[in-house]
Amino acid sequence: MANFDFSTLAVHAGEEADPETGAMRLPIDMATTFKLPPFGAKLIDALQMDTQNPPHAYTRWSNPTLRALEERLVALETIELSAAVQSNKKIAGVVTASGMAAVSALFLTLLSKGDHVVASEVCYAGSVELLGTHLPRLGIEVSLVDTSDLDQVRSAIQSNTRLVYIETPANPILRISDIASVVEIAHNAGIPLAVDSTWASPALQQPLALGADFVIHSLTKYINGHGDALGGVVIGSQKEIQRIRKEMLVHLGGALSPFNAWLILRGVVTLGLRMQQHCQSAQQVAQFLESHPKVTRVVYPGLASHPHHDLAKRQMSAFGGMLTFQLKGGLGATISLSEKVKVFQYATSLGHAHSLLFYYPTEAYFDAATYLSPAQKSGIRKWVGDGIVRASIGLEDPKDLIADLDQALRARSFRGLVGPMAYQILKSKQ
Ligand SMILES: *Cc1c(COP(=O)(O)O)cnc(C)c1O
Repeated sequence: MANFDFSTLAVHAGEEADPETGAMRLPIDMATTFKLPPFGAKLIDALQMDTQNPPHAYTRWSNPTLRALEERLVALETIELSAAVQSNKKIAGVVTASGMAAVSALFLTLLSKGDHVVASEVCYAGSVELLGTHLPRLGIEVSLVDTSDLDQVRSAIQSNTRLVYIETPANPILRISDIASVVEIAHNAGIPLAVDSTWASPALQQPLALGADFVIHSLTKYINGHGDALGGVVIGSQKEIQRIRKEMLVHLGGALSPFNAWLILRGVVTLGLRMQQHCQSAQQVAQFLESHPKVTRVVYPGLASHPHHDLAKRQMSAFGGMLTFQLKGGLGATISLSEKVKVFQYATSLGHAHSLLFYYPTEAYFDAATYLSPAQKSGIRKWVGDGIVRASIGLEDPKDLIADLDQALRARSFRGLVGPMAYQILKSKQ
């Protein structure tokens, strides 16, 4: 399927009509166990999984439905990688039970006691908790820095650094890190770079073509796109991916269900089309909010006001479906908004057909993030003020989304719940 474009690969890669029945959708192979050749040297090779495609033996290691999904995701993630680089590096992927299973698989395979990792100080809550609390408990040193500032990345690198890990665009604040420049810094020091590219999806951003060594996705978000299956993937060189498969799936066990893999294979078919709509609608909603008198700040990479707008333009083919905004009335206004919206749902998660809103009070985040320094906190506060409403713009008609926000923003807010202490006041009353 080498020379086909994104949408064609999203439909075809990894899935062929069944030679016996002609069925054009791959059946879900729920079998946990596969019959193997009689005992012998071949079987031992298969169980050691030293080849890219060993015969399926047990679903925690590999399974036909999981392999089809892995092939499709690799096809989509390598579309901009030149054929020469691709055959040189031999890119492979391993799917996992969730995005966090992919993140933890990467960290726990690549890092051991005494090693050091440089990572984005703001990223998906699960990842930052893993970095901030769990890895140090295992004797792994962690430097959390603002990876959009290349000097901070450069000066965080130590002689025992084994991995640089960035998330771009970063959840939830939409900071953009310059993948190609971070690659240069990491590679000059002989260190691999991993990128969590969940918020862009392979439709908008291709980190491997920019030189990154690993790409991670939460398949739960845009790639599945329907809000009905958890999943994750790590994509990288075949050698490293085999190691992750062996250590993390075989030994730690975070395997994806074939049923979820089948749903995700179906969901990803429309990824290109869906992303176009997410991006168009998010741009319109962002512009509406930016001109609204009750909104003090909108952060969307597609707005000229975004501090990394030019970088986003270079690095991504469009600006994605996620935005954040802050309200003049602070927490009180946010409570009213969450009560009044009808099309938007107040819920966490992102990247599916439903438009979602979720509030992040800055004080609550800082209470939990004990590993951040006062200087880091004040840098983050510059982006997020007292708190941000994160919006995942879904596939509803953008006119309805804008009308919904417009009516909800007219609601009277709970007066007094403004400023940095509003969250503590609210908490003490409950
Ligand atoms: C949601 C998310 C994850 C975690 O994925 P799960 O599938 O929920 O485990 C990781 N990274 C980013 C950027 C995410 O948005």
